[in-house]
Amino acid sequence: MQQVSEHVFIETKYLGCNVGVVLTEQGPVVIDTPALPDDTRDLRDQIRKLTSRRIAYLIYTHEHFDHVLGAAGLTKKVIAHYAAVSDIEYLRKNLASEIKHFYPGLYLEYKDIFDTLDVVPPQITFVNEITLYAGSRKLELSWVGGHSPASILIYVPDDRVLFCGDNVDVGMPFIAPYSRFGEWINALKRIEGMEIDRIVPGHGEVCGMDDVIRTRIFFETARDRVQSLISADVTKQEAVQKIDLTDVLPVPLSPIVRQQVQTMVGMMWKEID
Ligand SMILES: [Zn+2]
Repeated sequence: MQQVSEHVFIETKYLGCNVGVVLTEQGPVVIDTPALPDDTRDLRDQIRKLTSRRIAYLIYTHEHFDHVLGAAGLTKKVIAHYAAVSDIEYLRKNLASEIKHFYPGLYLEYKDIFDTLDVVPPQITFVNEITLYAGSRKLELSWVGGHSPASILIYVPDDRVLFCGDNVDVGMPFIAPYSRFGEWINALKRIEGMEIDRIVPGHGEVCGMDDVIRTRIFFETARDRVQSLISADVTKQEAVQKIDLTDVLPVPLSPIVRQQVQTMVGMMWKEID
């Protein structure tokens, strides 16, 4: 695992998402999980090298399947936002068919795993904020929404480290079907106001405030331009085709990025209208 501060370690190589471990006197607190059992076993081995204590809690940054599947191999003491409950319940009942539908290749490769995997629901939920006092270490969890309805921030103030889930990414943001851009922009503004040395995104390497600011400017510019097109009585279809965001795009334009931008513009249109 990569040490990002005195008490915080992360692993960025697992299939699924980044996984964090915060060492506390009550035991390690794990943030998100690997998708595959082999990676979960590896995570348990890595944690054992850091501490002999049992996992105190597992926190889901949000409800998406690529962040929660490994819980069965870790602990049932799961903390998540209240809005994660119904989605996790749905996943529990429909995991195999969901993965088969959205990621057929992945499903075929790991069919035996996804057919039997038990998705662990949260035991502790909260609505706005909750602070976990684990010995002398404090973890501040707060709801922000944005990327998904149950997206939260997890802040370790002693270490000035923030876990952002999929609200922050290096490159193009992960826009999901229920992303809400007003919330997302507010989340990014809130992060910009925090005292942070290291930011752990949901996927990829540790990033910094530059990535947060770049994403916020991208979303704000897009929203302003969508708003102007709505005011100019342009139709949604025209707007999706017409809008140009190349000057604020966090990545070079490609056919896939163009498609993502068009999806985002359509969603923003609906949100503003
Ligand atoms: Zn996600």
